[in-house]
Amino acid sequence: MAQTTHEADWVSRIADEVIAEAERRAPGKTLVCASGLSPSGPIHLGNLREVMVPHLVADEIKRRGVDCEHILSWDDYDRFRKVPAGVEGVDESWNEHIGRPLTSVPAPAGSPYANWAEHFKAAMEASLLELGVQYRGISQTAQYTSGAYTEQILFAMRERERIDAVLDRYRTLEKGAKNAQKQAKQQKPADEAEVRAAEGSGAAAEDDGSGAGAGSAYYPYKPYCTACGRDLTTVTAYDDETTELTYSCQCGHGETVELRSFHHGKLVWKVDWPMRWAYEGVVFEPSGVDHQSPGSSFVVGGQLVKEIFGGEQPIGPMYAFVGISGMAKMSSSKGGVPTPADALQIMEAPLLRWLYARRKPNQSFKVAFDQEIQRTYDEWDALTRKISDGSAQPADIAAHTRASSTARGPLPITPRPLPYRTLASVTDITGGHEEQTLRILSELDPEHPVHSLDEVRPRLDRAHRWITTQVPADQRTRVRDEPDTGLLASLDDAQRESLRLLLDGLEENWSLEGLTALVYGVPKVQAGLDPDAKPTPELKVAQRGFFALLYRLLVSRETGPRLPTLLLAVGADRVRKLLGA
Ligand SMILES: [Zn+2]
Repeated sequence: MAQTTHEADWVSRIADEVIAEAERRAPGKTLVCASGLSPSGPIHLGNLREVMVPHLVADEIKRRGVDCEHILSWDDYDRFRKVPAGVEGVDESWNEHIGRPLTSVPAPAGSPYANWAEHFKAAMEASLLELGVQYRGISQTAQYTSGAYTEQILFAMRERERIDAVLDRYRTLEKGAKNAQKQAKQQKPADEAEVRAAEGSGAAAEDDGSGAGAGSAYYPYKPYCTACGRDLTTVTAYDDETTELTYSCQCGHGETVELRSFHHGKLVWKVDWPMRWAYEGVVFEPSGVDHQSPGSSFVVGGQLVKEIFGGEQPIGPMYAFVGISGMAKMSSSKGGVPTPADALQIMEAPLLRWLYARRKPNQSFKVAFDQEIQRTYDEWDALTRKISDGSAQPADIAAHTRASSTARGPLPITPRPLPYRTLASVTDITGGHEEQTLRILSELDPEHPVHSLDEVRPRLDRAHRWITTQVPADQRTRVRDEPDTGLLASLDDAQRESLRLLLDGLEENWSLEGLTALVYGVPKVQAGLDPDAKPTPELKVAQRGFFALLYRLLVSRETGPRLPTLLLAVGADRVRKLLGA
């Protein structure tokens, strides 16, 4: 394994680098790779890259027998910033929770979970389990409220002037960068990445603790008010000796607490992140492009961890955004954003893993919810065949291995991976009816019939789900119940002859292969050609005309699923009836 993938792909190259760096920093210690997610709402499929990149690297390191852990920090002690639009069971009454920790906000109505963060975390955890991602989840609420970071907080408060000085070096830079972004946006239409970058650094600006008001002292710590639970607080005094901290809140509450034993607040984000790098000894943590601008939390954090916390910044490649193509409106009930769970309903875990494994982190790509998913599946099947016959390239083999297995072993696969497009067509026509589906699938290849639907699961279920949730009604297939008598009556002699040739050959050619030869052969026979003759341009026109006629008679449209599949799905008796036999 290590031999074949070594230097073969980006994962191997990063793993080499991370192992060497870990040896330099702390030889013999468990190597830590990290991800961070904020359960502030439905966790977007795009955010999966934040987990998949460290997962793939950590997994490669484990495959090499090196002690390695992937930690996933749940930023569930962050403030609830805004009520996301379109989330079921949530209305404007959630506005009153803005400013409270995500774990203190009630879950959407009807949720079985204790709070907002748990609700959205649970969905992501289920997806990560299905994806075979092993990690140690760390709740920042649990960390902060248990006092795990007390020493780090007291230290940061003692060092607040030095922290403020470091941050100040970047505040002007950040202003400059934002102005430049603004100007660039005015000059040309902003692409998605620019917009996201601008939003990212804008949101981060208030997270360095400098918003406390002009002239007031700088504090890198913000308490959540003990009266209203919100972070609308201002620290007004702090005593390093006694650790007594005085704050006032916009709600009118104010008090003095002993910070040493007060576990109801957190370090501001730009200080929090580097503190945790040092606390956990993180060697690898990638981040999105919005974290890479001057003054961003990743860049500033690199200075803070070194100058203040005595640690080192993780190796952190930038990863590009992941887009979505063709997510149907009807399934975007959860705030209009597809989640990993949405993707896993229409594709198997190895396929989704493959999308992330085969692209370098700095390459963007799209996850297909539209017709493209069929092509993605075709590519995956083609690669699987190439690997079996020994003709695949090393980097492609590596990506396939990372997609279909982890250091712990293989992921569940479909025992008999029939083409996704075939399964989609069949389930489209049968409406998911199991008996009919099995009949059709068993007739595809009579030499090696499918005996049970379990052989084609879970791929069949994913294809069925795709057809029913993502394919618009006007692209679905509805087989006619009754023959189109008007159309049949209007046919000319050549058309009648073509239908007769088809019907005559139906029985002896009742398999995917046989019917393929038959539907292409009928126009050849009519043209006086040998059934094995090479197609000429004239013949192709005749074939297209013949196919269109069959589609109109069978499904009242000009196109549809591949004809051999369609004929098998419709069944011989019904085909005869609809073709006027
Ligand atoms: Zn308050």
